[in-house]
Amino acid sequence: MRVVNAPAEISRGTPQRLSNTAERLKKKLERGVGQAIADFDMIGDGDTVMVCVSGGKDSYTLLSCLLALRERAPVDFRIVAVNLDQKQPGFPAEVLPAYFETIGVEYRIVTEDTYSIVRDKIPEGKTTCSLCSRLRRGILYRTAREIGATRIALGHHRDDILETFFLNLFFGGRTKAMPPKLVSDDGEHVVIRPLAYCTEADIARFARAMDYPIIPCNLCGSQENAQRKHVKAMLQGWASEHPGRIESIFTALANVVPSHLMDDALFDFRGLTRATEVAEGDTAFDPPDLPAATLGGIRILG
Ligand code: SF4
Repeated sequence: MRVVNAPAEISRGTPQRLSNTAERLKKKLERGVGQAIADFDMIGDGDTVMVCVSGGKDSYTLLSCLLALRERAPVDFRIVAVNLDQKQPGFPAEVLPAYFETIGVEYRIVTEDTYSIVRDKIPEGKTTCSLCSRLRRGILYRTAREIGATRIALGHHRDDILETFFLNLFFGGRTKAMPPKLVSDDGEHVVIRPLAYCTEADIARFARAMDYPIIPCNLCGSQENAQRKHVKAMLQGWASEHPGRIESIFTALANVVPSHLMDDALFDFRGLTRATEVAEGDTAFDPPDLPAATLGGIRILG
């Protein structure tokens, strides 16, 4: 289990004491978040953004970026940091309230003993994460209603999106990733992922530089899903052995050509005639042209 800093150390994360590394990463991450917000029109004037903060590196970073961007945004929006205390054994309940007080953000701590429910319902040795997160989702939706949130902001980043894409591809038979903005599964909320363009490596470096009081999500002792671990390792291997590959795949998620896939719900293959307009016609026996600058359209900020 990772060490959780004492609340007294939290003030190290305040902007006045940023190192050069943290300052540089902060700018880069804020640029990525600003770009994602603009590209997907994530936040508008008068929105109340409920930022889900688990105490992990991603959610601390998300909160930091949103607070910084709000300062200079042309629109006015409210931020409410929300943490759910699920009564996991060893959860340091005092850490996040102290942190939120220190940085002066509006916050709400929701306490619900989902841990006992999960322990009660799932036999020993079985994976608990799916029930745990389902319960957590329901509570967060209810909280969003209570505080009048018009947006629920989650800390998923570029690598979460890519991992989900490959998990769906390898094990789910679907070309589907994790959306930067979508309506929640209960149809009531708009969920946004402002870190969509930010890499996990940058977030991890920033969180270390900021010395955030990290709370691990494996307090319950659950193991990370084996398939996700496998996909993560595969992507990390590609990143070191094939520079640019990850960026190209991520760019591809925003450049879908339905006529060159096989989903007739997206492209009317049956009704196709010579008059049908297509973005790129078939090149028959010739291999498709790969753009010379394959990485030209990449959205990841370097
Ligand atoms: S690791 Fe534990 S706390 Fe996190 S989702 Fe899984 S069961 Fe829940």
